Amino acid sequence: MRSYAIAVALALLSGASGAAPLEVLCNSLPPAAEVRVLFAPSAAQLDDSKSARDLRLAADEEGAAFRHLGVTRATLQRELDIRLEGYTDERTGRACAWPKVQLHLSVSPLLVELARELEGSPCLRAHVFNHEMQHVAIYNAGAQRAAAQLEREMRAELNQHQLDGDSSTLMRDLREQLAQRWLPRLDDLVAEGNREHDALDAAEERQAFSVCNGVLPQILKTIR
Ligand SMILES: [Zn+2]
Repeated sequence: MRSYAIAVALALLSGASGAAPLEVLCNSLPPAAEVRVLFAPSAAQLDDSKSARDLRLAADEEGAAFRHLGVTRATLQRELDIRLEGYTDERTGRACAWPKVQLHLSVSPLLVELARELEGSPCLRAHVFNHEMQHVAIYNAGAQRAAAQLEREMRAELNQHQLDGDSSTLMRDLREQLAQRWLPRLDDLVAEGNREHDALDAAEERQAFSVCNGVLPQILKTIR
């Protein structure tokens, strides 16, 4: 399960126009955008209080009962800090600026849930826990990769040219570009990790009934 929350912080830095013409001031700006996409990996928390049935209901999806002995829930949090650094000609309202964008990514909550029924087999419980922790590792590594890739792509594009236009719309246009283009791009990059999650689950499906001396059918009988 993956869902997203966005927090947006905005600040506009705009230097007052001096005596020099706007073009001269614009050319004097250091020629670069600043783009940073930072991911802080999280440690997973464990909840083993729910029944397999409750886990299955919460997952809201069909599937073999053994798939709901363990669940990993991850929500990617995104905090965006956008600034513009440049000059405005107060007479004409024209402005030039370089964008300074920081996107902080974190995963919260990152929760591993193990079905209560696993109490009946420490071996199977450890096996399922290990499987869920591999999902956690895939999630953290995938978000890290996505952050690095997004940073490269945004930096390449935002460095192509200085922003130039009406001072009242520069920030709005930049916000729109981030919301409509780059945050969906982030979703796509994060979704590239889905193949690894699917491959892990396919492997689990092949071995689930043979691990721990084939204890799984006994555990499944205890699920109501
Ligand atoms: Zn799995």
